[in-house]
Amino acid sequence: MTPVLETDEHKALRAAVAALGNRYGRAYLTKVVAAGAHPDELWSEAAKLGYLGVNLPEEYGGGGGGIAELSIVLEELGAAGCPLLMMVVSPAICGTVIARFGTEDQKQNWLPGLADGTRTMAFGITEPDAGSNSHRITTTARRAGDGTDWILTGRKVFISGVDIADATLIVGRTEDARTGKLKPCLFIVPREAPGFERRKIDMELHGAEKQFELTLDDVRLPADALVGDEDAGLLQLFAGLNPERIMTAAFAIGMGRYALSRAVAYARERTVWKDPIGAHQAIAHPLAQAHIDLELARLMMQKAALLYDSGDDAGAGEAANMAKYAAAEACVKAVDQSVHTLGGNGLTGEFGLASLITASRVARIAPVSREMILNYVSHQTLGLPKSY
Ligand SMILES: Cc1cc2nc3c(=O)[nH]c(=O)nc-3n(C[C@H](O)[C@H](O)[C@H](O)COP(=O)(O)OP(=O)(O)OC[C@H]3O[C@@H](n4cnc5c(N)ncnc54)[C@H](O)[C@@H]3O)c2cc1C
Repeated sequence: MTPVLETDEHKALRAAVAALGNRYGRAYLTKVVAAGAHPDELWSEAAKLGYLGVNLPEEYGGGGGGIAELSIVLEELGAAGCPLLMMVVSPAICGTVIARFGTEDQKQNWLPGLADGTRTMAFGITEPDAGSNSHRITTTARRAGDGTDWILTGRKVFISGVDIADATLIVGRTEDARTGKLKPCLFIVPREAPGFERRKIDMELHGAEKQFELTLDDVRLPADALVGDEDAGLLQLFAGLNPERIMTAAFAIGMGRYALSRAVAYARERTVWKDPIGAHQAIAHPLAQAHIDLELARLMMQKAALLYDSGDDAGAGEAANMAKYAAAEACVKAVDQSVHTLGGNGLTGEFGLASLITASRVARIAPVSREMILNYVSHQTLGLPKSY
């Protein structure tokens, strides 16, 4: 068999998703955001076509593929200018964790809805006093008096899409594990659970999906709100976090490709001397470099997805971190150069590229910052002393 980076099915999926994305395009997303709405039409259509649940098991209504396929979907929608951020959390993290560790009831209850897009799940790990140091999270689960239910208390910050999600998968720790090493456990918290409050954060991002600060004030949950084993700890968490990193890479690569395509089209046309500005190497070369960086980042994303989908969680961890890093850096550079290529038009509402300058920074910060990946690689991969 000839080794291939992407199978014919993958290529067909790319082409089909790109066609869907181009039917909606940037103009659709801009309109939705200006109206304070959500891209529901695109979300439902993508779901109906099987794209949102492409990674989920077939017996629960999914496509039976993996993160490789899901990342293709997000990248292509992004390249068309209309990425769906909730794909990073709903099918990728929450769907994966439930499919791998959920009980039969949880799978029946959630996976068909996540796959057909009728239900959405958000994901909450970040806390105001822990930030990048997730070992410091203090959201705590204790057993209720009768020993069956759980009571959850804590705070979260920057959690995306809680208002539109039917539930949020909250990362907490059990009372006994409050001190010492992080032994996370995951709870499904319904949006309207008593004691589960949200406050929208005023972000300078023009995205449809908003970020929220959450308070969990003695939120009482049934025993089956716990996903998986309360002792399985980090293994379960990373089953969701590696797909999140791969999907963030897809998000960043898609955005970078979208910006670059706009800049290249502009550079081919715009003429202020005798030739189009794209004839000047000062314009052409940085665009070529941006393209190379995006391609390289995609290669690492494909490696990470391949490792993850083949069950190599450890190998996927390193590759997913590197892919997220490379994609975020490539995206920031591609957007910066694209805006610059358009001159004054790079900053106009008509061309709509300037808002991507802020948006492109997200992948550098979330879900794990550039510095934390450099810490990981210098310590875990290169064996240098840990600095923090
Ligand atoms: C748009 C957006 C959406 C998000 N959505 C979600 C979501 O849905 N769910 C969720 O759980 N979280 C979400 N987050 C949160 C995100 O994961 C965090 O912002 C991220 O993990 C960084 O944490 P922090 O913001 O507290 O930064 P901090 O941890 O305070 O870090 C601040 C700076 O210090 C640096 N730094 C920290 N420690 C070190 C160190 N040891 N060495 C070197 N540098 C260091 C960081 O790299 C960073 O540059 C979202 C964030 C954004 C911006």
